[in-house]
Amino acid sequence: MTQSSASSPTPPAETSSSAPRHATEQEARDVAEGAREKEWEKASFMRAFFEGRFRLEMLHPHPKSDPEESARGEAFLEKLTEFARETIDGDAIDREGWVPDEVLDGLRELGAFGIKIPQEYGGLGLSQVTYNRALAIVSSRCASTGAFLSAHQSIGVPQPLALFGTDEQKQKYLPRIAKGALSAFALTEAEVGSDPANLATHAELSDDGSHWILSGRKLWCTNGPRAELMVVMARTPPREGVKSKRPITAFIVEADWDGVEVVHHCHFMGLRGLSNGVIRFENVKVPAENVIWGEGQGLKLALITLNTGRLSLPAFCAAAGKASLEASRKWAAERVQWGQAIGKHDAIAQKLAKMAADTFAMEAGAELTASMSDSKQFDIRIEAAAAKMWHSEVAWDAGNEALQIRGGRGYETADSLRDRGENPIPVERALRDLRINLIFEGSSEIMRLFIAREAVDTHLKVAGDMVDPRAPTGRRIAAAVRGGLHYAWWYPTRWLGWGLWPRYSEFGPLAKHLRFVERTSRKLARTIFYCMIRHGGGLEKRQAVLGRVVDIGTEAFMMTASCVRARMLVQENPSDRSPEELADLFCRQARRRIRDHFRDVFRNDDVTAYGVARQAMEGRYAWLEEGIVSVVDDPRPMEAPLYPSETSETETAGSDDPESGVGADEEAMASSN
Ligand SMILES: Cc1cc2nc3c(=O)[nH]c(=O)nc-3n(C[C@H](O)[C@H](O)[C@H](O)COP(=O)(O)OP(=O)(O)OC[C@H]3O[C@@H](n4cnc5c(N)ncnc54)[C@H](O)[C@@H]3O)c2cc1C
Repeated sequence: MTQSSASSPTPPAETSSSAPRHATEQEARDVAEGAREKEWEKASFMRAFFEGRFRLEMLHPHPKSDPEESARGEAFLEKLTEFARETIDGDAIDREGWVPDEVLDGLRELGAFGIKIPQEYGGLGLSQVTYNRALAIVSSRCASTGAFLSAHQSIGVPQPLALFGTDEQKQKYLPRIAKGALSAFALTEAEVGSDPANLATHAELSDDGSHWILSGRKLWCTNGPRAELMVVMARTPPREGVKSKRPITAFIVEADWDGVEVVHHCHFMGLRGLSNGVIRFENVKVPAENVIWGEGQGLKLALITLNTGRLSLPAFCAAAGKASLEASRKWAAERVQWGQAIGKHDAIAQKLAKMAADTFAMEAGAELTASMSDSKQFDIRIEAAAAKMWHSEVAWDAGNEALQIRGGRGYETADSLRDRGENPIPVERALRDLRINLIFEGSSEIMRLFIAREAVDTHLKVAGDMVDPRAPTGRRIAAAVRGGLHYAWWYPTRWLGWGLWPRYSEFGPLAKHLRFVERTSRKLARTIFYCMIRHGGGLEKRQAVLGRVVDIGTEAFMMTASCVRARMLVQENPSDRSPEELADLFCRQARRRIRDHFRDVFRNDDVTAYGVARQAMEGRYAWLEEGIVSVVDDPRPMEAPLYPSETSETETAGSDDPESGVGADEEAMASSN
């Protein structure tokens, strides 16, 4: 792969000539729905939860690791910890924006680029739990270095190969990857962020069928500038035998092939050592055997890859919670203001206690989801998305509070602290590094939509046609009959349960919280049902309502994870009840949040707020922005865009409805695009 200078001013012809029109909202939804995994071959805890069934037996007792694997994993983690402490300097990497070769080579020698790759292919053959712990160790020294390992193994070439690769592909690539050939995952483009419908990178099969010719540009490709291999998602022509009408196919591409070029290195608020860039593909010849999982399966492959790939982010976040806690509790005890340690002032004490309880819950959630994945008994797609979303938000909060507790020293860089002789705790860097977790690998908003889609799935299957405006009358009538029969049984049973019965006594002081979770599952199922009745087909547009539903389910899952972990830890060491104390506080606080969400599902300001947002986009409140120098209309010259501008065929939200205003009713919301 060649690397051009920072910004390439001339966009290549291929993207402009093949630039697609923007997909409509319906097309975008259809593409996402087409690529959605619809099969549920294994049990899903959260899917059952949204249906009103609390299946504690799926999570308790906590799934255990294989002892032989654990012993090998421990030995590896010990060496990795020593290496991280001795060799990885997170402040220097942040300052210089570069992870030194020496660090990557050291990680290669330890086998850290092949942690999960089976031993038969030269990898360490370790579990998701061990992999997560390795990421936590490395990222606690330097999040950018952690991201190298994670982008390579969680979403880079080994992950889709492990899931969908042929034997030949595995034989060819996995040994190389295990030795440390860095890999990347290239889905995002300028017009393709959360919504893959507008994918412009494309590939056409050669006349003799021996190879594909790939052209296009990928944005924000982590590891891309230093990768040897990448998995690239591209549009391929519709063909007989390929199910999708707008197929997307996944290819393994080698970075040193002709036509692959890094045209820009991206720089960010945090993760400053990340190697990330815009990669241009210009008539790259990709052998036909480098298609993974067959033509037209590329988007589904990307989404399924992300489903498991997401499990590493909770581990990063739990590690960040631990670092925040260590920095905060030590400072809270040491720093004296107004006559006592700041941690004894209630305002700081409350922050510290929440941070400790949340960190316990983050570790519980990260370990549980990873163990569930290792056990291979469960479908963890909802749990992984929920954990990714919840952990990234909670870790951000913990990092933010750590900065607040450290006061001015929290805001000061580690280098500056060191230079004036103070302990260089990198709280400021940690916060910058944490922020991206809410955006990549599925933003919080998209995770909520993804989970909400699964939460209402059972209802859509039973009665979806009743609320689908596109369904013909016959299908609607059939759905009404089916729904009537189903709900005549289903609804009364969502009232009957054992939530007040003295169950779960083995959990001691935590039993009451599990009973609350059990009651919550049924109440949540009823609430989803009421939402469907109240909003009908418009429910999918009520993202704030759906978000609350998802948050209730997620908090309940984290409560369960915390209780199960506390129970396991206390059983292992009965003289130490501290895990129960943390789980108890976490559950108390989560219960309060759950009650608030239930209340707000039907009593909220969503419609008013939506109207104000539409008006804000129309410029009605532009007067409010007077008195500053515009941050948007910057008079300084910029480089020619790396991407040609494309004309949108769809209107921007809010621009098409002169009737809408503050006080716009639900119809405006439902008809939005
Ligand atoms: C540091 C970094 C590393 C990355 N690494 C990679 C990588 O290795 N490979 C790769 O392919 N990509 C990578 N990405 C891309 C990343 O996954 C995307 O940024 C992410 O998918 C979001 O896309 P976007 O930024 O275009 O946001 P958009 O999709 O434009 O969204 C903007 C905002 O609108 C919200 N939004 C969008 N649609 C909806 C909706 N329907 N409902 C409600 N809210 C909505 C989003 O949540 C977000 O808040 C990386 C990005 C960064 C910054």
